[in-house]
Amino acid sequence: MKPFSYARASVESTAIEAGARPSTRFIAGGTGLVDLLRLGVETPEQLVDVNALPWSQIESTADGLRIGALVRNTDLAYHPMVVSEYPVLSEALLSGASPQIRNMATVGGNLLQRTRCSYFRDVGVAQCNKRAPGSGCAAIAGYTRMHAVLGATDQCIAAHPSDMCVALVALDAHVYTRGSRGTRDIPVGDFHTLPGDHPEVENVLEPGELVTHVVLPRTAFAARSAYVKARDRASYAFALASAAVALDLDGKSIRQARICLGGVGTKPWRSQEAELALTGRPPTREMFDRAAAVALQGARPQGDNAFKIKLAQRVLVRALERAGGRA
Ligand code: SF4
Repeated sequence: MKPFSYARASVESTAIEAGARPSTRFIAGGTGLVDLLRLGVETPEQLVDVNALPWSQIESTADGLRIGALVRNTDLAYHPMVVSEYPVLSEALLSGASPQIRNMATVGGNLLQRTRCSYFRDVGVAQCNKRAPGSGCAAIAGYTRMHAVLGATDQCIAAHPSDMCVALVALDAHVYTRGSRGTRDIPVGDFHTLPGDHPEVENVLEPGELVTHVVLPRTAFAARSAYVKARDRASYAFALASAAVALDLDGKSIRQARICLGGVGTKPWRSQEAELALTGRPPTREMFDRAAAVALQGARPQGDNAFKIKLAQRVLVRALERAGGRA
């Protein structure tokens, strides 16, 4: 591991100032970053520990549920309001990683999770545009079973790894940040970026900008929501395909729907087309099948991952049935 300096920030201004310096990374739970330091994928000169910042609360406010960036994934998953009013988020969190990792991992860190593409994580592989911009992409001619079928380019086909982020998109969450230019309110659907020609850019944060908290708005659809994930093992495995859905029903028809897919896109993949296909329709299997076909219609398989298209459709239908059956 390359040596680095370590500093603790106890006030936001110190963290922002330190984080703006080149080759600096923030660390909180460390469940993603420490792995990447050991692998030599991340080679910062300085780590700034932000665990002492006052962002570990979950509060009910007029705007909705305010979740500090340092709230641990376990605490969020079992919070009574999350379980009862935003079940898709609780289910998504509990489907990710292991209990030990969830006890350490933070909301802010989960938002910034990096891909599990094995070529990205292996520094012995020279070609990876995300790790070494301009070097190429070893995955495209390689083993692509875990890679994305939506949002990929010929620069990068890596799937986004987070379960939590898929649920946040379905809940219309907002991410709040603070940096040298002040505070920002970013809809979570705009937070992650597509690889385009610059796969090394994964989100809209500027150097030194910190995620302070996330807000889950009060909506008519949040409580009737569900997360379904298909994976290789029953636990501690990343999604082959997952779906976070939320429905607002008026009895006979769907007033509003939210649909976001995980494991298949280069970012959490919201399908507004599929949502539209359900709006005003009855919550039936036939309509769910139709919406699932719409959600995946732009999918482009890459070698070994063609199975993900059918799998994602089935996962989405199951999530819609579960959410539709909720009181
Ligand atoms: Fe790197 Fe993306 Fe290609 Fe994986 S898919 S090797 S992360 S450029």
